Amino acid sequence: MNAIELHNHPSPDHAGKVSRALALLREQAASHPRLAQASSLGAEDMVVTHLIHLAGIEASVFVLDTGKLHTETLALIPLIGQRYRREVEVYRPQQEQVLHFVRQNGEDAMYRSIELRQQCCGIRKMEPLARALAGKDGWITGLRREQSQERADVAAVVQEPQRVKISPIVDWTWGDVWHFIAEHRLPYNALHDRFFPSIGCEPCTRAIAVGEDFRSGRWWWESEAAKECGLHARHVSPPNPFPVDSRTT
Ligand code: SF4
Repeated sequence: MNAIELHNHPSPDHAGKVSRALALLREQAASHPRLAQASSLGAEDMVVTHLIHLAGIEASVFVLDTGKLHTETLALIPLIGQRYRREVEVYRPQQEQVLHFVRQNGEDAMYRSIELRQQCCGIRKMEPLARALAGKDGWITGLRREQSQERADVAAVVQEPQRVKISPIVDWTWGDVWHFIAEHRLPYNALHDRFFPSIGCEPCTRAIAVGEDFRSGRWWWESEAAKECGLHARHVSPPNPFPVDSRTT
């Protein structure tokens, strides 16, 4: 069974959720002309890219290529380019910082302590994110409240110091996501067919078993409270040497 066959179960108000997501994107785009979608290339973000297309708004799409992404994840970049006739912007970490960190701490430093894991995320994700968001009025994410307790009360629109953060599918279920993917025949990450609901870097993502939480395959050796890379964390404060006005998949 593939992910669509497993998860295509829309909620009763699915059509209303789609309408409200499109309305939100149009409304926010009217007052924020320089928008960008931060895509992890997971299922939610493929949905959001398509919603941006359907809404007809101007918004760039960027990916943070940490150097540790799965081949299956990277394979989606040209597919987005072909389907929407737009170039996906790819931001990579500063090579000298990566080399220095790896030389000092090794390739598997993230398993040794939360601090080292957060330093790795700081170098490979947060610094490129700061560059990707520079000059933007707002960023668009695929956050959903259902994803974890940390995200249970995330708002669809958050005004951050320098820009607005827009999450048009916060109230969607996993079934809504897969119904939308099926309905619009969207490309999706092949890892979803192998029981990876939440996809990040290869060393820090694993498949989950029946009954496990949605994000239990991310940083599975850490406690639940620590499980954010910094992009969207609110209750943890990673030692981030690259401050941005918000934390980011
Ligand atoms: S998710 Fe893992 S490999 Fe990726 S940046 Fe964070 S610690 Fe490093």
